[in-house]
Amino acid sequence: MQTQLADFIRDTPEGREADAILRKCVHCGFCTATCPTYQVLGDDLDSPRGRIYLIKRALEGAPVTDKTRLHLDRCLTCRACETTCPSGVQYGRLVDIGRAVVEERTQRGPWDRVKRAVLSFGVPRSGLFGAALRLGQLVGMAPHARPSGAWPEPRHARRMLALRGCVQPSLAPSINAAAARVLDRIGISLLEVPGAGCCGAVRFHLNDQDAGRDDMRALIDAWWPIEAEAIVMTASGCGTNVKEYHHLLANDAQYRAKAQRISEMTRDLSEVIRPEDFPQGKGRARVAFHSPCTLQHGQQIRGKVEALLTHVGYELVPVRDAHLCCGSAGAYSLLQPEIANELRTRKLAALEEGAPQAIATANIGCLTHLQEPTATPVRHWIELIDAALA
Ligand code: SF4
Ligand code: SF4
Repeated sequence: MQTQLADFIRDTPEGREADAILRKCVHCGFCTATCPTYQVLGDDLDSPRGRIYLIKRALEGAPVTDKTRLHLDRCLTCRACETTCPSGVQYGRLVDIGRAVVEERTQRGPWDRVKRAVLSFGVPRSGLFGAALRLGQLVGMAPHARPSGAWPEPRHARRMLALRGCVQPSLAPSINAAAARVLDRIGISLLEVPGAGCCGAVRFHLNDQDAGRDDMRALIDAWWPIEAEAIVMTASGCGTNVKEYHHLLANDAQYRAKAQRISEMTRDLSEVIRPEDFPQGKGRARVAFHSPCTLQHGQQIRGKVEALLTHVGYELVPVRDAHLCCGSAGAYSLLQPEIANELRTRKLAALEEGAPQAIATANIGCLTHLQEPTATPVRHWIELIDAALA
């Protein structure tokens, strides 16, 4: 695609990166076939190809309107289009650049600003989020978290760090505890560092990119110096973000090297345990696995969780359209509830087609979003492995 970026961005690092990405796009439209918002809305401007065109025009200096922002807001950042694109267009990076420009040049309405400010202030602060959740539980408006069970004492020479995260400690403390027990069985002690909270994805994807980068720096400071062989992510959304710190903080001279080191050390939990670490099992429950977009598209990890679940004895049921987003997408389900709920309805129909006894996933956002309307238990896959080994 030919480009003529405007003076305000052409010679900046973002401009150069966006230009290189835009030039790769041949406008073939293959990506529209796997775009969830295009499937729901049927408008080319709600497809990757249409959004790429809108971003190109914005970066070329064309007028930017609320409608431009709406089509970018409706994007889930699921990155299914990246997996599909034969030309290797890095849509996720392009949309970050496009969103920052469009945000700066438009003015959101008061209600939209209030919602975003509340989410941006409350979600990354795990103490505040936990207090709000407890209040919701007291008045019966929020579900109670499952008991986490014991966290094994650190006793092994091999040590890895776990990210506590922002909402997961309140919503599902059982996930990291289950990971610690499973890793303990294979000779690895999992540790949480006090103060290592939000990875920055929440505020970054609410388009408060500077505040998101502040959260990233704060997390690096909490972890540094790192006295462990790896950093383990039990939420694939956070994992995708931390693996990209080297890129997101590339222009920060003070943090660039630390960010690079942290990205190199970061692993999804499914990358640090292998089926052969455990005895083979059989005859366990039928499970449908929902691979979050951040796992299958963001990190391009496929088949690992499925192999682990099968190895310990779970029966995996086939899932139609497994590449499609469930509609959670961070704060998306709160900001675009109609599209998010439609995608969830479609996803649950696909997941429950094989009459599973449980749904497994790998990200706290997908887990809580999917669990809300269904009686089928939705669990993090590590909780199922932990239960199988107990
Ligand atoms: S992003 Fe890729 S698949 Fe989509 S229109 Fe461009 S080249 Fe084609
Ligand atoms: S990231 Fe997902 S929702 Fe956004 S354009 Fe790509 S496929 Fe569509």
